[in-house]
Amino acid sequence: MSAIPYRQYVQPKIEVKAQPLVTVIIPFLNEVDVLAVCHQRVCDALNSLHQHCEILYIDDGSHDGSWELVSQLKHPFHQVRCLRLSRNFGKEAAMSAGMKAAAGRCVILLDADLQDPPEYIPEMVSTWQDGAQVVEMQRRERHGESWLKRTTAHCFYRFMTHISDHPITENVGDFRLMDQKVVSVINSLPERTRFMKGLLAWPGFSRKVLSFDRDARLAGNTKWNYGKLIHLALEGITSFSTKPLRWATMAGLTTSLIAFIMAIVIFTKTLVWGDPVVGYPSTVLIVLFLGGIQLLSIGVLGEYVGRLFIESKQRPLYVLMEDAMTKPTYLHSDS
Ligand code: UDP
Ligand code: MG
Repeated sequence: MSAIPYRQYVQPKIEVKAQPLVTVIIPFLNEVDVLAVCHQRVCDALNSLHQHCEILYIDDGSHDGSWELVSQLKHPFHQVRCLRLSRNFGKEAAMSAGMKAAAGRCVILLDADLQDPPEYIPEMVSTWQDGAQVVEMQRRERHGESWLKRTTAHCFYRFMTHISDHPITENVGDFRLMDQKVVSVINSLPERTRFMKGLLAWPGFSRKVLSFDRDARLAGNTKWNYGKLIHLALEGITSFSTKPLRWATMAGLTTSLIAFIMAIVIFTKTLVWGDPVVGYPSTVLIVLFLGGIQLLSIGVLGEYVGRLFIESKQRPLYVLMEDAMTKPTYLHSDS
Protein backbone atom coordinates (compact mmCIF):
# COMPACT_ATOMS: atom_id res chain seq x y z
CA MET A 1 0.00 0.00 0.00
CA SER A 2 1.36 3.40 -0.86
CA ALA A 3 2.12 5.78 2.00
CA ILE A 4 -0.75 8.06 2.90
CA PRO A 5 0.20 11.72 3.09
CA TYR A 6 -0.91 13.47 6.25
CA ARG A 7 -1.54 17.14 6.68
CA GLN A 8 0.99 19.15 8.62
CA TYR A 9 -0.07 18.83 12.22
CA VAL A 10 1.44 20.13 15.41
CA GLN A 11 0.48 18.26 18.54
CA PRO A 12 1.48 19.01 22.14
CA LYS A 13 3.12 15.76 23.34
CA ILE A 14 1.33 15.63 26.68
CA GLU A 15 -2.07 15.05 25.03
CA VAL A 16 -1.07 11.71 23.49
CA LYS A 17 -0.88 9.77 26.74
CA ALA A 18 -4.25 11.00 27.96
CA GLN A 19 -7.52 9.20 27.26
CA PRO A 20 -8.40 9.71 23.58
CA LEU A 21 -10.91 12.45 23.02
CA VAL A 22 -12.85 10.50 20.40
CA THR A 23 -12.94 6.89 19.26
CA VAL A 24 -14.14 6.52 15.68
CA ILE A 25 -15.53 3.00 15.21
CA ILE A 26 -15.46 1.74 11.62
CA PRO A 27 -16.97 -1.71 11.01
CA PHE A 28 -16.23 -3.16 7.58
CA LEU A 29 -16.79 -6.20 5.46
CA ASN A 30 -14.76 -6.57 2.25
CA GLU A 31 -14.07 -2.86 1.75
CA VAL A 32 -10.51 -3.04 0.42
CA ASP A 33 -11.25 -0.43 -2.26
CA VAL A 34 -12.32 2.27 0.16
CA LEU A 35 -10.36 1.74 3.37
CA ALA A 36 -7.23 3.75 2.46
CA VAL A 37 -9.28 6.79 1.42
CA CYS A 38 -11.51 6.34 4.45
CA HIS A 39 -8.46 6.32 6.75
CA GLN A 40 -7.07 9.45 5.20
CA ARG A 41 -10.36 11.36 5.43
CA VAL A 42 -10.95 10.26 9.03
CA CYS A 43 -7.38 11.25 9.99
CA ASP A 44 -7.82 14.66 8.33
CA ALA A 45 -11.04 15.23 10.26
CA LEU A 46 -9.46 14.13 13.56
CA ASN A 47 -6.34 16.24 12.99
CA SER A 48 -8.50 19.35 12.96
CA LEU A 49 -9.51 18.55 16.58
CA HIS A 50 -5.89 18.98 17.73
CA GLN A 51 -6.22 16.27 20.32
CA HIS A 52 -5.22 12.64 20.62
CA CYS A 53 -7.93 10.35 19.19
CA GLU A 54 -8.45 6.67 18.47
CA ILE A 55 -9.53 5.00 15.24
CA LEU A 56 -10.97 1.53 15.76
CA TYR A 57 -11.46 -0.71 12.73
CA ILE A 58 -13.58 -3.84 13.10
CA ASP A 59 -13.11 -6.48 10.43
CA ASP A 60 -16.39 -8.37 10.24
CA GLY A 61 -15.01 -11.44 8.45
CA SER A 62 -13.51 -9.87 5.30
CA HIS A 63 -11.72 -12.09 2.81
CA ASP A 64 -10.59 -9.55 0.21
CA GLY A 65 -7.37 -8.33 1.83
CA SER A 66 -9.07 -5.60 3.87
CA TRP A 67 -7.55 -6.89 7.12
CA GLU A 68 -4.02 -6.97 5.68
CA LEU A 69 -4.49 -3.37 4.57
CA VAL A 70 -6.10 -2.07 7.73
CA SER A 71 -3.66 -3.71 10.14
CA GLN A 72 -0.84 -1.73 8.49
CA LEU A 73 -2.50 1.65 8.94
CA LYS A 74 -0.73 4.07 11.25
CA HIS A 75 -0.89 7.66 12.35
CA PRO A 76 1.75 9.82 14.01
CA PHE A 77 -0.57 11.15 16.73
CA HIS A 78 -3.69 9.05 16.82
CA GLN A 79 -3.94 5.47 17.99
CA VAL A 80 -5.08 3.02 15.32
CA ARG A 81 -6.53 -0.26 16.57
CA CYS A 82 -7.93 -3.10 14.48
CA LEU A 83 -10.11 -5.92 15.75
CA ARG A 84 -10.81 -8.95 13.62
CA LEU A 85 -13.90 -11.06 14.20
CA SER A 86 -13.53 -14.79 13.53
CA ARG A 87 -16.27 -14.69 10.85
CA ASN A 88 -19.01 -12.43 9.55
CA PHE A 89 -21.23 -11.75 12.57
CA GLY A 90 -23.07 -8.80 11.00
CA LYS A 91 -22.58 -5.06 11.29
CA GLU A 92 -24.57 -4.89 14.52
CA ALA A 93 -22.21 -7.34 16.28
CA ALA A 94 -19.16 -5.59 14.80
CA MET A 95 -20.35 -2.24 16.18
CA SER A 96 -20.95 -3.86 19.58
CA ALA A 97 -17.37 -5.21 19.55
CA GLY A 98 -16.15 -1.70 18.75
CA MET A 99 -18.13 -0.08 21.55
CA LYS A 100 -16.76 -2.61 24.08
CA ALA A 101 -13.19 -1.86 23.02
CA ALA A 102 -13.47 1.93 22.59
CA ALA A 103 -11.29 3.99 24.92
CA GLY A 104 -12.41 7.49 23.92
CA ARG A 105 -14.35 10.01 25.97
CA CYS A 106 -16.93 9.85 23.21
CA VAL A 107 -17.56 7.43 20.37
CA ILE A 108 -18.53 7.99 16.74
CA LEU A 109 -19.93 5.19 14.55
CA LEU A 110 -18.96 5.51 10.91
CA ASP A 111 -19.41 3.35 7.79
CA ALA A 112 -16.23 2.46 5.92
CA ASP A 113 -17.78 3.17 2.51
CA LEU A 114 -17.75 6.93 3.26
CA GLN A 115 -21.50 7.31 2.89
CA ASP A 116 -21.27 9.09 6.24
CA PRO A 117 -18.78 11.89 5.53
CA PRO A 118 -16.01 12.05 8.20
CA GLU A 119 -15.81 15.81 7.59
CA TYR A 120 -18.80 16.17 9.97
CA ILE A 121 -16.74 14.82 12.88
CA PRO A 122 -15.50 18.24 14.15
CA GLU A 123 -19.07 19.61 14.18
CA MET A 124 -20.32 16.52 16.02
CA VAL A 125 -17.55 16.81 18.59
CA SER A 126 -18.19 20.49 19.21
CA THR A 127 -21.94 19.77 19.66
CA TRP A 128 -20.95 17.15 22.24
CA GLN A 129 -18.59 19.59 23.93
CA ASP A 130 -21.49 22.04 24.10
CA GLY A 131 -23.38 19.55 26.26
CA ALA A 132 -25.24 17.05 24.05
CA GLN A 133 -24.51 13.47 25.15
CA VAL A 134 -25.81 11.98 21.91
CA VAL A 135 -25.43 13.68 18.53
CA GLU A 136 -27.65 12.02 15.93
CA MET A 137 -26.96 12.59 12.25
CA GLN A 138 -30.18 12.87 10.27
CA ARG A 139 -30.09 12.19 6.54
CA ARG A 140 -31.41 15.08 4.47
CA GLU A 141 -30.55 13.57 1.11
CA ARG A 142 -29.62 9.98 0.35
CA HIS A 143 -27.48 9.99 -2.76
CA GLY A 144 -26.85 6.77 -4.65
CA GLU A 145 -29.76 4.88 -3.11
CA SER A 146 -32.69 3.61 -5.15
CA TRP A 147 -36.20 5.05 -4.83
CA LEU A 148 -37.40 1.67 -3.53
CA LYS A 149 -34.74 1.58 -0.77
CA ARG A 150 -35.47 5.16 0.29
CA THR A 151 -39.23 4.55 0.38
CA THR A 152 -39.03 1.23 2.24
CA ALA A 153 -36.55 2.73 4.73
CA HIS A 154 -38.87 5.72 5.28
CA CYS A 155 -41.90 3.46 5.81
CA PHE A 156 -39.95 1.25 8.20
CA TYR A 157 -38.77 4.20 10.34
CA ARG A 158 -42.35 5.52 10.42
CA PHE A 159 -43.67 2.12 11.45
CA MET A 160 -40.97 1.66 14.12
CA THR A 161 -41.67 5.12 15.55
CA HIS A 162 -45.34 4.17 15.72
CA ILE A 163 -44.94 0.80 17.43
CA SER A 164 -41.82 1.26 19.53
CA ASP A 165 -42.12 2.28 23.16
CA HIS A 166 -38.87 4.26 22.81
CA PRO A 167 -39.00 6.74 19.92
CA ILE A 168 -36.36 6.35 17.23
CA THR A 169 -35.51 9.55 15.37
CA GLU A 170 -36.58 9.25 11.76
CA ASN A 171 -33.88 9.00 9.09
CA VAL A 172 -31.08 8.59 11.61
CA GLY A 173 -28.90 5.59 10.94
CA ASP A 174 -25.88 4.38 12.89
CA PHE A 175 -23.83 7.50 12.12
CA ARG A 176 -23.83 9.31 15.47
CA LEU A 177 -21.70 10.43 18.40
CA MET A 178 -22.25 9.10 21.90
CA ASP A 179 -20.71 10.11 25.19
CA GLN A 180 -18.81 7.32 26.99
CA LYS A 181 -21.58 7.23 29.63
CA VAL A 182 -24.12 6.35 26.93
CA VAL A 183 -21.75 3.77 25.45
CA SER A 184 -21.29 2.06 28.80
CA VAL A 185 -25.08 1.80 29.19
CA ILE A 186 -25.36 0.21 25.73
CA ASN A 187 -22.47 -2.14 26.55
CA SER A 188 -24.32 -3.28 29.65
CA LEU A 189 -27.41 -4.35 27.67
CA PRO A 190 -27.21 -8.14 27.58
CA GLU A 191 -29.41 -9.00 24.60
CA ARG A 192 -28.10 -10.98 21.66
CA THR A 193 -30.60 -9.84 19.05
CA ARG A 194 -29.18 -6.39 18.61
CA PHE A 195 -31.25 -3.99 16.60
CA MET A 196 -28.76 -1.17 16.92
CA LYS A 197 -30.98 1.75 15.92
CA GLY A 198 -33.30 0.81 18.76
CA LEU A 199 -30.55 -0.02 21.26
CA LEU A 200 -28.73 3.23 20.56
CA ALA A 201 -31.94 5.18 21.16
CA TRP A 202 -32.91 3.24 24.29
CA PRO A 203 -30.65 4.88 26.93
CA GLY A 204 -32.05 8.38 26.28
CA PHE A 205 -29.69 11.14 27.60
CA SER A 206 -29.58 14.63 26.11
CA ARG A 207 -29.79 14.52 22.32
CA LYS A 208 -29.12 16.88 19.49
CA VAL A 209 -29.92 16.18 15.85
CA LEU A 210 -27.71 17.51 13.04
CA SER A 211 -28.60 17.22 9.35
CA PHE A 212 -26.31 15.92 6.65
CA ASP A 213 -26.42 14.77 3.03
CA ARG A 214 -25.61 11.10 2.72
CA ASP A 215 -23.13 10.46 -0.08
CA ALA A 216 -23.18 7.57 -2.49
CA ARG A 217 -20.86 4.65 -1.79
CA LEU A 218 -17.26 5.40 -2.77
CA ALA A 219 -16.79 1.94 -4.31
CA GLY A 220 -18.17 -1.59 -4.09
CA ASN A 221 -21.73 -2.64 -3.39
CA THR A 222 -24.04 -2.50 -0.42
CA LYS A 223 -23.82 -5.60 1.79
CA TRP A 224 -27.54 -5.53 2.47
CA ASN A 225 -30.00 -7.30 0.20
CA TYR A 226 -33.76 -7.18 0.71
CA GLY A 227 -33.72 -10.56 2.52
CA LYS A 228 -31.26 -9.19 5.11
CA LEU A 229 -33.24 -5.95 5.42
CA ILE A 230 -36.49 -7.85 6.09
CA HIS A 231 -34.65 -9.88 8.74
CA LEU A 232 -33.34 -6.65 10.31
CA ALA A 233 -36.83 -5.13 10.24
CA LEU A 234 -38.32 -8.21 11.96
CA GLU A 235 -35.51 -8.10 14.49
CA GLY A 236 -36.27 -4.44 15.19
CA ILE A 237 -40.01 -4.96 15.56
CA THR A 238 -39.80 -8.04 17.79
CA SER A 239 -37.04 -6.71 20.03
CA PHE A 240 -38.59 -3.29 20.58
CA SER A 241 -42.30 -3.89 20.71
CA THR A 242 -44.84 -6.45 21.84
CA LYS A 243 -47.57 -4.69 19.87
CA PRO A 244 -47.77 -7.40 17.15
CA LEU A 245 -48.79 -9.88 19.91
CA ARG A 246 -51.48 -7.44 21.03
CA TRP A 247 -52.66 -7.09 17.41
CA ALA A 248 -52.94 -10.90 17.15
CA THR A 249 -55.08 -10.91 20.28
CA MET A 250 -57.22 -8.08 18.91
CA ALA A 251 -57.65 -9.89 15.57
CA GLY A 252 -58.76 -13.02 17.47
CA LEU A 253 -61.23 -11.01 19.57
CA THR A 254 -62.67 -9.19 16.55
CA THR A 255 -63.19 -12.34 14.50
CA SER A 256 -64.81 -14.09 17.50
CA LEU A 257 -67.15 -11.14 17.90
CA ILE A 258 -68.06 -11.15 14.19
CA ALA A 259 -68.62 -14.94 14.33
CA PHE A 260 -70.86 -14.52 17.39
CA ILE A 261 -73.00 -11.83 15.68
CA MET A 262 -73.25 -13.92 12.51
CA ALA A 263 -74.34 -16.95 14.56
CA ILE A 264 -77.17 -14.91 16.12
CA VAL A 265 -78.26 -13.58 12.70
CA ILE A 266 -78.26 -17.04 11.08
CA PHE A 267 -80.01 -18.64 14.08
CA THR A 268 -82.73 -15.96 14.11
CA LYS A 269 -83.26 -16.16 10.33
CA THR A 270 -83.66 -19.93 10.53
CA LEU A 271 -86.05 -19.84 13.51
CA VAL A 272 -88.22 -16.85 12.53
CA TRP A 273 -88.29 -17.02 8.72
CA GLY A 274 -87.38 -20.66 8.32
CA ASP A 275 -84.62 -19.82 5.86
CA PRO A 276 -82.64 -22.89 4.82
CA VAL A 277 -78.94 -22.64 5.67
CA VAL A 278 -77.23 -21.74 2.40
CA GLY A 279 -73.86 -20.39 1.46
CA TYR A 280 -71.16 -22.92 0.76
CA PRO A 281 -68.82 -20.21 -0.67
CA SER A 282 -69.21 -17.95 2.37
CA THR A 283 -68.49 -20.90 4.71
CA VAL A 284 -65.30 -21.72 2.84
CA LEU A 285 -64.28 -18.05 2.84
CA ILE A 286 -64.81 -17.74 6.57
CA VAL A 287 -62.87 -20.95 7.28
CA LEU A 288 -59.98 -19.75 5.11
CA PHE A 289 -60.05 -16.30 6.70
CA LEU A 290 -59.96 -17.73 10.21
CA GLY A 291 -57.23 -20.19 9.20
CA GLY A 292 -55.18 -17.27 7.85
CA ILE A 293 -55.55 -15.25 11.02
CA GLN A 294 -54.64 -18.24 13.17
CA LEU A 295 -51.52 -19.04 11.15
CA LEU A 296 -50.48 -15.40 11.16
CA SER A 297 -50.89 -15.19 14.92
CA ILE A 298 -48.93 -18.40 15.44
CA GLY A 299 -46.24 -16.97 13.15
CA VAL A 300 -46.06 -13.76 15.20
CA LEU A 301 -45.86 -15.80 18.39
CA GLY A 302 -43.16 -17.96 16.77
CA GLU A 303 -41.02 -14.91 16.00
CA TYR A 304 -40.99 -13.98 19.67
CA VAL A 305 -40.47 -17.55 20.91
CA GLY A 306 -37.61 -18.00 18.42
CA ARG A 307 -35.88 -14.92 19.78
CA LEU A 308 -36.38 -16.13 23.36
CA PHE A 309 -34.72 -19.39 22.32
CA ILE A 310 -31.74 -17.51 20.86
CA GLU A 311 -31.44 -15.35 23.98
CA SER A 312 -31.63 -18.39 26.27
CA LYS A 313 -28.56 -19.96 24.64
CA GLN A 314 -26.43 -17.04 25.85
CA ARG A 315 -23.89 -17.44 23.09
CA PRO A 316 -21.36 -14.65 22.71
CA LEU A 317 -22.31 -11.92 20.29
CA TYR A 318 -19.04 -12.20 18.38
CA VAL A 319 -15.69 -13.97 18.62
CA LEU A 320 -12.44 -11.98 18.35
CA MET A 321 -9.69 -13.54 16.28
CA GLU A 322 -7.05 -10.80 16.30
CA ASP A 323 -6.42 -7.49 17.97
CA ALA A 324 -3.77 -5.32 16.34
CA MET A 325 -2.78 -1.95 17.69
CA THR A 326 -0.43 0.61 16.23
CA LYS A 327 0.45 3.25 18.77
CA PRO A 328 1.11 6.79 17.56
CA THR A 329 4.53 6.66 15.91
CA TYR A 330 5.96 9.53 17.90
CA LEU A 331 4.93 7.78 21.12
CA HIS A 332 7.18 4.87 20.03
CA SER A 333 10.10 7.19 19.54
CA ASP A 334 9.24 8.87 22.82
CA SER A 335 9.13 5.78 25.02
N1 UDP B 1 -20.80 -4.11 7.20
C1 UDP B 1 -20.28 -4.94 8.16
N2 UDP B 1 -20.80 -6.21 8.26
C2 UDP B 1 -21.81 -6.66 7.48
C3 UDP B 1 -22.36 -5.77 6.52
C4 UDP B 1 -21.83 -4.50 6.41
O1 UDP B 1 -19.36 -4.57 8.89
O2 UDP B 1 -22.23 -7.82 7.64
C5 UDP B 1 -20.24 -2.75 7.07
C6 UDP B 1 -19.88 -2.32 5.64
O3 UDP B 1 -18.58 -2.75 5.28
C7 UDP B 1 -19.99 -0.82 5.73
C8 UDP B 1 -21.13 -0.62 6.72
O4 UDP B 1 -21.24 -1.83 7.47
O5 UDP B 1 -18.81 -0.25 6.28
C9 UDP B 1 -22.44 -0.30 6.02
O6 UDP B 1 -22.73 -1.34 5.11
P1 UDP B 1 -23.36 -1.06 3.67
O7 UDP B 1 -22.69 0.11 3.05
O8 UDP B 1 -23.29 -2.33 2.89
O9 UDP B 1 -24.85 -0.72 4.05
P2 UDP B 1 -25.79 0.46 3.49
O10 UDP B 1 -24.99 1.73 3.62
O11 UDP B 1 -26.07 0.11 2.08
O12 UDP B 1 -26.99 0.43 4.37
MG1 MG C 1 -23.17 2.03 2.81
